[in-house]
Amino acid sequence: MPKVKNWQIGREMEYPYEDKRPKKQVAYVFDTNKCIACQTCSSACKTTWTSGPGQESMFWNNTETKPYGFYPKAWDVKLLKNLGEQTWEGDTYTGKTVFEEPPAGERIKGHLPAYEDYANPNVGEDEVFGLIEKGAFFGSVHNAWMFYLTRICNHCTYPACLAACPRKAIYKRDDGIVLVDQTRCRGYKECVKACPYKKVFFNMVTRTSEKCIACYPLLEKGEQPRCVQTCIGKIRLMSWLSKPGEAKEDNPLDYIVLIKKVALPLYPQSGTEPNVYYIPPVHVPREFLLQMFGPGVDEAIQTYKAVRSDPKLLAAFLLFGNTSKIITRFAYNEKEAIGFNEKGEEVVRVPFTEPFFEREMFDAKLQVYRHNTA
Ligand code: SF4
Ligand code: SF4
Repeated sequence: MPKVKNWQIGREMEYPYEDKRPKKQVAYVFDTNKCIACQTCSSACKTTWTSGPGQESMFWNNTETKPYGFYPKAWDVKLLKNLGEQTWEGDTYTGKTVFEEPPAGERIKGHLPAYEDYANPNVGEDEVFGLIEKGAFFGSVHNAWMFYLTRICNHCTYPACLAACPRKAIYKRDDGIVLVDQTRCRGYKECVKACPYKKVFFNMVTRTSEKCIACYPLLEKGEQPRCVQTCIGKIRLMSWLSKPGEAKEDNPLDYIVLIKKVALPLYPQSGTEPNVYYIPPVHVPREFLLQMFGPGVDEAIQTYKAVRSDPKLLAAFLLFGNTSKIITRFAYNEKEAIGFNEKGEEVVRVPFTEPFFEREMFDAKLQVYRHNTA
């Protein structure tokens, strides 16, 4: 089997196809510290793409509560069990990926969820881990904790779904988007079984597999996807990630992910090189986060907490949720963060400090008193 370089696990690994990174890679940063699980992203995606027959229990975007929430049921518990012992030496993963040592006759170590596993997408919602003792108070890491993990297809650099498909019906475009060719798919569900994140779904009416398409009709117009544009908590930023070793200081995603390393991949030990990057929740015990986001957790949290002393990183964060356009380059001055599109046009300008206006309590012109003057 060919060997490919996976920067997230710091080593080469086996993959069924030759290394062929796309010209540019669609990628996202999600800040878990800001997610409120309002499910606006889930609804936006659902009403746009999955409101048809056979798509009833399909959520290309879902938001689950950790540690007890999952959709489909126990997807992450089963992934971790499948991977076996997961060991790291520094930044190098020394355990096995889903591509290494699969069962005889298979390409990937995966699992196929049962139909019922998709029936309760809000299982475990808002359930807290740990007991709240009398007199307990919040420290920097909480004794009783939970957090929201919002998930979409990771448009992996080495997609397990693509590797597993016997029909070669799954392909990766030049912009890194992973798509299922509906005319080639015969519904064998090998992709559903292979995807470590369970983000390919089987449509029981069309008898084909379907998945997040990264809202490519929007991306092709320079617009961010629906789940990003509609995010109430402004936790999301989508843009193009450069190849490892070619990071650009003025590309906001490169800066956050590759240079400052403040956002991390989800279960990098899967080996697929997922391209949704998470800023880890600062209040959650580190052991849980280490198994979920890999060895960069402590450094990422430290950098995140010190953002006020890093105006460039703060400027990159200010771009989240403030424009529908894809920002490929950013700059900042002492007052504002400025975002530019692929053509070099300015698309957004966000102040570091929101302007504050206070009005007179009594409006002499209208002869009324105001209750809210700010
Ligand atoms: S997350 Fe799953 S469906 Fe998406 S590209 Fe990766 S392996 Fe394929
Ligand atoms: S990128 Fe588009 S298709 Fe994918 S989860 Fe978000 S809204 Fe849905």
